[in-house]
Amino acid sequence: MIEVIDLKKVFDNGFEALKSVDFTIEKGDLVCLLGPSGCGKSTILNLIAGLLSPSAGDIRFAGSSVVKTEPKDRNIGFVFQNYALYPHMTVLENIMFPLTVGQKKIPKEEAKITAEKFMKLTNIEELYDKKPGTLSGGQQQRVAITRALVQNPEVLLLDEPLSNLDARLRLRIREEIRRLVKEVGITTIFVTHDQEEALSISDKIILLNEGVIQQNDDPQNLYLEPANLFVAKFIGNPIINTLSVTVQDGLMKNDVFQIPVSRFTSARFKDSMPDGEYVLGIRPEDFSPTGNEGIFSAELTNVELIGRERILNFQIGLDRMKSIVSIEDEIEEGTSVTFDLNYSKAFIFKKTGERIY
Ligand code: ATP
Repeated sequence: MIEVIDLKKVFDNGFEALKSVDFTIEKGDLVCLLGPSGCGKSTILNLIAGLLSPSAGDIRFAGSSVVKTEPKDRNIGFVFQNYALYPHMTVLENIMFPLTVGQKKIPKEEAKITAEKFMKLTNIEELYDKKPGTLSGGQQQRVAITRALVQNPEVLLLDEPLSNLDARLRLRIREEIRRLVKEVGITTIFVTHDQEEALSISDKIILLNEGVIQQNDDPQNLYLEPANLFVAKFIGNPIINTLSVTVQDGLMKNDVFQIPVSRFTSARFKDSMPDGEYVLGIRPEDFSPTGNEGIFSAELTNVELIGRERILNFQIGLDRMKSIVSIEDEIEEGTSVTFDLNYSKAFIFKKTGERIY
């Protein structure tokens, strides 16, 4: 449905916001553009919408290039972060508006029937004659999405649509957005910097950093099979534990522990591990207290209870580590605990960040 081919964007001041971006989005999929502030998410969205023009590369809808097509002719629905509703119009008038102007121009009565049909779908019929200024953030959000959908676009673009809502409402509205776009069957691109939001609603996630795609994959693969250290650190909460280690003569070492490399290689990896400097990555759930001999012991500096789980905080040398255990494991601050790794789940990265195992 959407192909982005070797897309580059250099702004007038010489800043290279997108280096060479390639991806394909299947018809009907909900795809998240995810990444830290400034990584180029909105730039991609604006290029797809035609609000910016690319410095190089191509954007195709259903096989045809759209880079020379005017924004209004691209058949796109765009929901901005601030919703951009017309304050002097009622909700109904806001939603009818795009139908009664420009190319689509249809008679008012017909526009009203279409608008009402979509308002039913998004559950905002009761807001009919209210002005946007009197609505809550969540309600304005729904009006903005309804106004985008009413034009029957082929693609729906949502730029950080939940950022103005409080935490509870975000959870509810994100479920609603997924249900709605799946019901309508519309291809949707959703921009967010919130990894949990992206994991929860996407069919696919495109994770960016500094104008370069780091991984384009199913949500679970970003967690279970991160392409590099950046992805491993960006996805998951609490953040993955990382340790600088040296591999030499079949042993992985740092100042505090020594682990035979064979434990990793027999659990997960086919090849032997060449000598060198690496970064060992262990998710908090794969770093567990053990009754047996572990790889090292540490005193718990802090224990946090978060719902069903406890987070054990400890240090290896100067590095702060986290382990997640069940609420039933009543381990107290200050106790000394022996830890071991889940060797089949550990990741090993080169110093450059590339994942090798
Ligand atoms: P955020 O989550 O903060 O919205 P983003 O990932 O959407 O970030 P973009 O808005 O795409 O980031 O911006 C990418 C980079 O390009 C940023 O470093 C930004 O400062 C820069 N940038 C954006 N617009 C322009 C412009 N018109 N001129 C120069 N630089 C720009």
